[in-house]
Amino acid sequence: MSATITLAAPLSGLALPLSAVPDPVFAGGMMGAGLAIEPLSSTLLAPCAGEIVQLSATGHALTLRAVNGAEVLLHIGIDTVQLGGAGFTPLVARGAQVVCGQPLIEFDIDAIARRAPSLLTVVVVSNSDAMTLSDCASGPVQAGGAGLLTIRAAGASQAPAAAAPSCSDSARVAHDGGLHARPSALLQGVARRFDAQLDIEFNGQRANARSVTALMALGAGEGDRVTVHAGGAQAAEALAAMLAALETATAAGHAPAAVTAPVTASAARSDDKLGGVCAAPGMAVGTVVLLAQQERVLDEHGHGIEAELVALTRALAQVQQAVAQEVVQAAARGARAESEIFGAHLALLDDPQLQQAAEGFVRDGCSAAFAYRRAIRQQSEVLLALDNALLAERVADLKDLERRVIDALLGEAPELAELPPQAVVVADDLTPSQLTQLPRERLAALVLARGGASNHVAILCRALAIPSLVAAGDAVLALAAGSTVWLDASDGWLDPAPTAANLAAARQQIAEREARRDSLRRHAAAPARTLDGVAIEVAANIVNAAEAAEAVRHGADGVGLLRTEFLFAHRSDAPDEAEQRAACQAVLDALDGRTAIIRTLDAGGDKEVPYLPLPPEDNPALGLRGIRTGLAMPAVLDSQLRALLSLTPLSRLRILLPMITDLSELQQVRARIDELAREMGLSERPQLGVMIEVPSAALLAEQLAAHADFLSIGTNDLTQYTLAMDRCSPALAARLDPLHPAVLRLIELTVRGARQHGKWVGVCGAMASDLAAVPVLLGLGVTELSVSPALVPEVKACVRQLQLAQCREQVQALLQQSSPQAVRALLQLADTGQH
Ligand code: PEP
Ligand code: MG
Repeated sequence: MSATITLAAPLSGLALPLSAVPDPVFAGGMMGAGLAIEPLSSTLLAPCAGEIVQLSATGHALTLRAVNGAEVLLHIGIDTVQLGGAGFTPLVARGAQVVCGQPLIEFDIDAIARRAPSLLTVVVVSNSDAMTLSDCASGPVQAGGAGLLTIRAAGASQAPAAAAPSCSDSARVAHDGGLHARPSALLQGVARRFDAQLDIEFNGQRANARSVTALMALGAGEGDRVTVHAGGAQAAEALAAMLAALETATAAGHAPAAVTAPVTASAARSDDKLGGVCAAPGMAVGTVVLLAQQERVLDEHGHGIEAELVALTRALAQVQQAVAQEVVQAAARGARAESEIFGAHLALLDDPQLQQAAEGFVRDGCSAAFAYRRAIRQQSEVLLALDNALLAERVADLKDLERRVIDALLGEAPELAELPPQAVVVADDLTPSQLTQLPRERLAALVLARGGASNHVAILCRALAIPSLVAAGDAVLALAAGSTVWLDASDGWLDPAPTAANLAAARQQIAEREARRDSLRRHAAAPARTLDGVAIEVAANIVNAAEAAEAVRHGADGVGLLRTEFLFAHRSDAPDEAEQRAACQAVLDALDGRTAIIRTLDAGGDKEVPYLPLPPEDNPALGLRGIRTGLAMPAVLDSQLRALLSLTPLSRLRILLPMITDLSELQQVRARIDELAREMGLSERPQLGVMIEVPSAALLAEQLAAHADFLSIGTNDLTQYTLAMDRCSPALAARLDPLHPAVLRLIELTVRGARQHGKWVGVCGAMASDLAAVPVLLGLGVTELSVSPALVPEVKACVRQLQLAQCREQVQALLQQSSPQAVRALLQLADTGQH
């Protein structure tokens, strides 16, 4: 068997480096090394003899195992899996033995060019770590023509020998902080570009330059002199490039702090309290539980070496793909430090030394998860032993990867074993599903180092009335587990060491607030009228029938927003029409005659529905989301509309469309509703409203109101898009204030536009739940507020204390302000003036 093969071109076209591929997974070499071809022919030929070991069901990609063991993946076009097979005709089956030049897949080059982001066809060797690639063609190639790429199996006679380097030289490490994760990742990138074995020697130790962990473990500091040894076909070029990379300084190595340390009040506080952004108001006294300390219990033994190795490879690829996306997204946002850190995580994931260690443990009988944890821990110990603070910090990066790979292997971490009563849960960040797994009755408060006030965990906290602080910074992660803390989320602080007197006073205040809430609850069912007699509808934001019932118990006048994406989340495929119908009917039934505004699926952006074939976006918040997703996937929208149209009685249903940007979107959906209703033999149509969540919709409110039955303002997104501040960014959380005068002006414009056509305007974003904002919204002319169920009594009580005429007058001054701080200051002044 020959250890070296040369591939023939599978297509005619232009050969390009992988970096030209508009997909980070391929371009970053995560699927292996190789090249890409911009095709001019439409029959994919076998580039060598071998066996078809994988053929995708959609016929757009296959893997061919060559006689020297190289696994050559041929992938036609980018994101072509989404075409569902349309345009591809496989000519071979899995398991077939093929000869070089044999036709493998025919494809409709024009049709695919129209529907896929790129036709670039990738030729990569998926096990390239065990191979040496050389002589990559570039420029025009002819289908079937030889000399595309040479692949030599590792261990073949010409493999470069690490033990016998052909050249070496020394360099001084110029990187700030020495060879920590990011410079090591950079060196790894250099090493991977060459057909050469590169080792770096320091203090009598030698490290493979393709291994980030081995490089870090050298402990080479800034200014240290290291020796580079190079061997193999491109030894001289590789040596020169590595010396240059070592001697080119990169900036300071404290980037993780830039990611995790948000701009928060904590830094600015002069007392001993820790500051944060209020995500859900309230006060709590409780026991600190650090979520990060909860370690998953893993089975030590696996289910067979092969199965565990496959699982490990898959999990690593899955995490690599996710991290690669984060790198690209961070880079697109201009978050350089963040993208560099995740870039270093990518390099760690691809680290041959870590992988080999984990695979070695699997071969010893460990489960993949246990083996990976063991490999990470082993590496962490090496770093900690180096007595270098900067390298020791990298242990956190390794831990992060350990968690992600284990989650990929076993699914998201399971429910927490136990929480003590009155737990104040402290975590770096939390996903909505992690939050909902916590036992509510034991959760007194939530404190996150990261997060933002309008992300979905915050929304859930408000819905569940869990006092929460977000974007509180790393200091909260250093709180002692088991200690008693006092938190006033409404005021944005946590006291880590309250005195006994303070604790007693806090407990007293909590009891008084609870008693006040009880009294409010008793009056909640009555309508909310201002002092001058204007009725304001106070409805609830909910996600399911249980919350609908809770909303009724809290006195809600109806449901102002049912977010249907929660029906679609945390599952592997979309709910069918019957399931959607049942879930929504249960909500209507729980409302005891009240109306429900049900929003169509708002997938995309920060609301991920992984199984929907949404294209990867450089900037998801500005990509396919909301109604755009619905219109791009008519089958999903139709099934939801049909489910809604089959509810009874339709008179109690209002359909709401998310992320409308102009009239045509509303008209398209209205026409589709008419068509479906006709098909279903319905004479009645539910009311149809649009969300005002982007400035264009607010600016076109008058035109939208001419065709919509009502407008509902999503202030979470309207603030995000007006201020161009990511609602999920911890660094911006404190500045993402819907009381910004620019947002107020858009709300005013919306109400003015709606009035011209006699339509009403509601607010269903988090702003409606902010008691300080209630008089402002009323003054602007909003007549419906949709808030978290638990806050209905309080919001109603607030409305009952307001004079609408006074609110209107006050709003005129607010609209003239130039900052949210000025708006809040005026509001406070008015508030103290009234009391
Ligand atoms: C909003 O944007 O204010 C809103 C209510 O929608 P969501 O928070 O679900 O994006
Ligand atoms: Mg929104």
